[in-house]
Amino acid sequence: MKSKVRHVLGISGGKDSAALAIYMFENYPELPIEYYTCDTGKELEATYQLIKNLEIYFGKSLTLLEAAAKSHEDPFDHFLQLYGGYLPSSASRWCTRKLKLEPFEKWVGNDPVVSYVGIRGDEDREGYISKKPNIQSIFPFRKNIWSEDVVSKLLKNDHIRKVANWYQQTDTQHLERILEIVEEPLSSKFVQTEKLNALLNLDTPAFNQVAFAFLKTTNYPLSAEANFPLVDNDDVLKKDDIYDILKRSGVGVPQYYEEITFEVNGKKGTYARSRSGCYFCFFQQKIEWVWLYEQHPDKFRMAMEYEKDGYTWMQDERLEDLIQPERMDQIKEEQIRRIERAKNNTKSPYLVDKLNDEVEGCISCFL
Ligand code: SF4
Repeated sequence: MKSKVRHVLGISGGKDSAALAIYMFENYPELPIEYYTCDTGKELEATYQLIKNLEIYFGKSLTLLEAAAKSHEDPFDHFLQLYGGYLPSSASRWCTRKLKLEPFEKWVGNDPVVSYVGIRGDEDREGYISKKPNIQSIFPFRKNIWSEDVVSKLLKNDHIRKVANWYQQTDTQHLERILEIVEEPLSSKFVQTEKLNALLNLDTPAFNQVAFAFLKTTNYPLSAEANFPLVDNDDVLKKDDIYDILKRSGVGVPQYYEEITFEVNGKKGTYARSRSGCYFCFFQQKIEWVWLYEQHPDKFRMAMEYEKDGYTWMQDERLEDLIQPERMDQIKEEQIRRIERAKNNTKSPYLVDKLNDEVEGCISCFL
């Protein structure tokens, strides 16, 4: 017998996952979503504040997943000791695996799980949450809410007849044109993305009905659900929508995104942090380390204490070298040049958008 499907949504401390939680809470109250967060013990206060604000908004606590919960140390420190002081890096990111993915996978066990992920409609990336087959990702902010593996199976040339039949059972007004597209096989001249976009652009809810009918023939978690309300969803949410949701709800945009002015050699520039996650995260840029040093000196000092026995957060520079006055001036000057170079027409008040500074790779930490 199939067990009950769980619906879960992870909140990283970044703006997009927080906005998604609010969006799902407001628009799909019928879905029994479990909202959770993973604590590394090393987040900035603004992240913990965002979590508190969300709890006030929801009127209940989020589920807190903590790795090594029985340890007397913070989760990060516990694992750092097990790794013999070996600091994580983009090439060896044991922190995400130990502190986020493994507690998540342990929490859901073998239950069939639908996991909602806040990748926006203006982003071109897929995002990785888990490779476990009992966990299915859904992307409510995108026109295409389905994961790449679902789409590639659905649109296989072998499935053309079935897809055509499923479309005939929808009430789409564009059936004739849709069937022409469905019946054109994928080839080097007509690739999957083109076919997908053509079908979505003609009728998104009809495509979703077909995808849901297809899932019923598989072992994906959603095959066990009689209905899935997001089938009717054709919203596409972009950056401005995310900020609007956070502000309108009263939850607010995390404070570290706020642009702060600095002065160097008689010139003015600005800096901010571009992501959530641990204050010492090795993904941050040099200017963000300078921001940390000047805005959160206590956290910077703690980050410095981790640099010992030859281990450093950055491959090319130790933190104690980065904060030498001449070096900081150099980094600030470069930031001013970057801002000048960024011929960005965005109306966003946030530096992360003006500089297009969002990182790929760690949606568990930064979304
Ligand atoms: S925020 Fe950075 S340091 Fe922290 S767990 Fe994620 S990748 Fe690792």
